[in-house]
Amino acid sequence: MATREHVQELGGWHTVLGNGEFSIHKVYLKLRTYHTWVPWRRVIKNNKATPRSVFILWLAAHKRLATSDRIMKWNVQCSSICKLCDAANKSIEHLFFECQYSSAVWMQILSIINICRRGNGFSHELQEVCRKAHSNTRRARVYVMLFTETVYMVWIQRNLKIFQNNLMQTERLVREIIFRVTARCNDEDRLLLIA
Ligand SMILES: [Zn+2]
Repeated sequence: MATREHVQELGGWHTVLGNGEFSIHKVYLKLRTYHTWVPWRRVIKNNKATPRSVFILWLAAHKRLATSDRIMKWNVQCSSICKLCDAANKSIEHLFFECQYSSAVWMQILSIINICRRGNGFSHELQEVCRKAHSNTRRARVYVMLFTETVYMVWIQRNLKIFQNNLMQTERLVREIIFRVTARCNDEDRLLLIA
């Protein structure tokens, strides 16, 4: 399904354009009331992460991330090499989070909420975050936000590397992701991240 069709699914372009420009906020509001049945629907609906990152996760879950350039004005790189770790694999499965770079980031993030494991491929990680989205514990809420912001920030890093040959060190990226989540979660949930 093309990005255009996904936008149709949300109600058409006129519902996501603000002043003639693509509005992430409008898409986000649409996603909050998204009723199409997909296993990861709750991850999108019960998610307090930034609208932009929820949208990127939504595209990733639809396996449409690489061609989101029409919306995001990003170009598509046609090399088969992952620019983050130089492995010969640039699939979504690899990028989130089998990749050496993104896996290191995700592992560090998970360790902050006392989960000790390596990153797996995207399908597995998506299943995991779906399970969390069905729970309403503090840890689960924070997990969903961390996952969403990590997908988004890794995606941004991938683009910065391709277009500006710039790559943030994993420790700094982890701090930024934590900052983004702490800024948006409630006081009680925030304690998990700053304790
Ligand atoms: Zn990689």
